[in-house]
Amino acid sequence: MSDVLINLAYVVAAVLFIFGLKMLGSPATARNGNLLSSVGMLIAVVVTLLAHSIVEFHFIVIAGLIGAVIGAFAARAVAMTAMPEMVALFNGSGGLASLLVGWAALYNEGTTTFIAFTIFLSILIGGITTTGSVVAWGKLSEVMPSRAIVFAAQRIVNGAFLAAIILAGVMFCMDPSTSSPEFIAVLVLSMILGVMVVIPIGGADMPVVISLLNSYSGLAACAAGFAIHNNILIVAGALVGAAGIILTNIMCKAMNRSLANVLFSGFGAVKTATKVEGEVKPITVDDAYLILEAASSVTFVPGYGMAVAQAQHVVRELGNLLEQNGAEVTYAIHPVAGRMPGHMNVLLAEANVPYDQLVEMDDINPRIDNIDVAVVIGANDVVNPAARNDENSPIYGMPIINVDKARTVFVLKRSMASGFSGVDNPLFFGENTRMLFGDAKESITGLVAQFKS
Ligand code: NDP
Repeated sequence: MSDVLINLAYVVAAVLFIFGLKMLGSPATARNGNLLSSVGMLIAVVVTLLAHSIVEFHFIVIAGLIGAVIGAFAARAVAMTAMPEMVALFNGSGGLASLLVGWAALYNEGTTTFIAFTIFLSILIGGITTTGSVVAWGKLSEVMPSRAIVFAAQRIVNGAFLAAIILAGVMFCMDPSTSSPEFIAVLVLSMILGVMVVIPIGGADMPVVISLLNSYSGLAACAAGFAIHNNILIVAGALVGAAGIILTNIMCKAMNRSLANVLFSGFGAVKTATKVEGEVKPITVDDAYLILEAASSVTFVPGYGMAVAQAQHVVRELGNLLEQNGAEVTYAIHPVAGRMPGHMNVLLAEANVPYDQLVEMDDINPRIDNIDVAVVIGANDVVNPAARNDENSPIYGMPIINVDKARTVFVLKRSMASGFSGVDNPLFFGENTRMLFGDAKESITGLVAQFKS
């Protein structure tokens, strides 16, 4: 294919990426947006493979087959609840791929200082993304403690790592070669830095880390695109980098924190929340039914526990029954509920909950005192009033859905255990709170059965 045709196809792919991304902005168009972007990626891959610089296909076919088998197996075998961990690993794979592309580019003839610089960037950002994502996976899957791991002079140590990488990078750019010890130093130190920068970030801040690593994986791909002169890799990488940074910003806002504060404060490590005590008022499914039956407005507040219980389908069924009973039904979504950005939207869309019933935190809070019953389904941190009231709490300042201000609150969970941040929740002891203990799916199924009978 001629260069002109290749670049034309790349422009088409880039346009599809941009429109696809735009459509991801609303649940109503997100599926088609995903499809459009995938078509763009297919065009980009096919056209790249037709380029004259590809001299043989053996390794590409073998690698493609291995990737397809791993991808197909992962997509089928991984439970829905483990999706966030898989997303973390995907980010890491993107970083590793860019690192390897940058490394391979070093074997091309005539490496200029500029190309060496882009190789340096793809190794640096790709290395941090790879190991940082593995640590994020470890924290999300609780293979390792999700709390912040901090030690004395940590920032100085990290600063020293970064300074050493920059020094080695400058020396490498001045005299780039595959056997250069400076190159090996950049590679190894970047991977260590990835671990060092993620371990001091505590559990509740992982949404920011995931979206930031996603952005890094894009930036690494962008740098790799410059290293191998591939325009579509540059464009796609820049789009992922920019989208990831926007998402990071949204996540920071959702937690009312600055990015610097998330990255450098060792969140959760220093503060100890005030001990919560009081009387809990447990109820049965029968009691809950009687209250819901008389309610004229009900809002469901889903959280990670809904994903664990896979309760989204019965929740929608209960929502429909409540509507038939004359109640106004809404679903209030906190931006960091669950374990990945958009987690609750994905689950509720899967259960075909109408989009117009989804209400964002900022829209539900001003009118929540007029809601008869707020039904909290496996959410904990995102409805914890300590974030509003307890200055000693590690989550103090994080905006929450103010369910404690609704007329009645049902909390559906299995025990008195804390949420992902490990912080106790005073909501459970509230005057207007009723605890419906048990698996959320079983409790809601019980309610559905009551309504049907
Ligand atoms: P939380 O993790 O705070 O709480 C989930 C609750 O669900 C638990 O308290 C648990 O209680 C309950 N639960 C678990 N399984 C079930 C079940 N089968 N039935 C009923 N309840 C169940 O979740 P939230 O969504 O409120 O908050 C998300 C947290 O995760 C925040 O701290 C956020 O910062 C963090 N996070 C978010 C990410 C994102 O991108 N959205 C990424 C990474 C972390 P019990 O065991 O008693 O049942």
